[in-house]
Amino acid sequence: MDNGDVQVFTGHRIQHNMARGPGKGGIHYHPDVTLEEVKALAMWMTWKCAVTGIPYGGAKGGVNCQPKTMSEKELEAVTRRYATEISIIIGPDRDIPAPDVNTDERIMAWIMDTMSMHRGFTVPGIVTGKPFSVGGTLDRTGATGRGVTIVAREAASKIGLSLKGARVIVQGYGKVGYAAARLLAEQGCVIVAVCDAAGAVYSEKGIDPEALKRFSEANGTMAGYGEADAMPRSDFLQTPCDILVPVAIESQITKHNAGDINARLIVEGANGPTTPEADPILRERGIMVVPDVLANAGGVVVSYFEWVQDTQQYFWDLDEINRKMESILVNSFNDVFRRSQEQKIGMRDAAMDLAVGRVAEAIRSHGLYP
Ligand code: GLU
Repeated sequence: MDNGDVQVFTGHRIQHNMARGPGKGGIHYHPDVTLEEVKALAMWMTWKCAVTGIPYGGAKGGVNCQPKTMSEKELEAVTRRYATEISIIIGPDRDIPAPDVNTDERIMAWIMDTMSMHRGFTVPGIVTGKPFSVGGTLDRTGATGRGVTIVAREAASKIGLSLKGARVIVQGYGKVGYAAARLLAEQGCVIVAVCDAAGAVYSEKGIDPEALKRFSEANGTMAGYGEADAMPRSDFLQTPCDILVPVAIESQITKHNAGDINARLIVEGANGPTTPEADPILRERGIMVVPDVLANAGGVVVSYFEWVQDTQQYFWDLDEINRKMESILVNSFNDVFRRSQEQKIGMRDAAMDLAVGRVAEAIRSHGLYP
């Protein structure tokens, strides 16, 4: 640490299933990281890559630390040591990390640089979500939020909900929450309520996503934002709306609050925001849920494009990236929706059915060695 103390941080990298290709998945930094959580998140990535048809297996990393109280130098030291510890299992053909909760392109650059120092040459394809200057793609940062908006639009059209004037609430205002709020507002939605870990704000006439971002970046939270009314965070998920976008952490919609949710559509920007007990309650109440593995897959899809560009050493323009991402997400949404209609099951079960089926087919095709 900067003061000369030595502190030990525990980190994990889990590879869940590699039948469809190299492992893929983010690394998150959080004081609640546990091995079991990272294992679950790695499995989610297996299904996410399968449901979108991108050629990866599932992996995930996590380091138990509180980045908000660490200096840049301490964060870099933890990152480079973690990268070194997992260097024996990651690689462009093996397992490709990416950003997640509390990690960003600066951290990805440190990981890439550490790995490149070990190898003696630059290895851009070892992580995605890097800065553009070292082989990153255009718009990886906004990709997850853009994907959330695309599937929200597709889902809304299926339930006869127009985005023009649709009331949206967004739980969480990091990279994904901000991008989703901005793009949904651009499509005509009214962002009526937003919350983060410290505060929640409400405005019947709509919150300006840009102004809120400027305020929360300057103050470290949205609490105290003067252009909207403060509201209790505990009531947030009950706010009447058309579309609820949970973009915070896991297990936010539970059996205790699912009955009070006042939305027609839930688009899961976060990984695992709904507990298994809450799911049937939402289904019985007729609320359509676009599951995480589909709703937030825009990020890993653009990560895939970044890795392809690194491998080809040929970079695409933004138009091409957005067009290709939109096409993958719309097709995946339609595949899942069709399956849910055919089998009369919810969207989450349909996504799982499709994803598990694709992984099982890959395992069968591999056959048994020797
Ligand atoms: N961390 C993101 C996710 O959960 C992106 C993973 C990636 O780009 O590999 O989907």
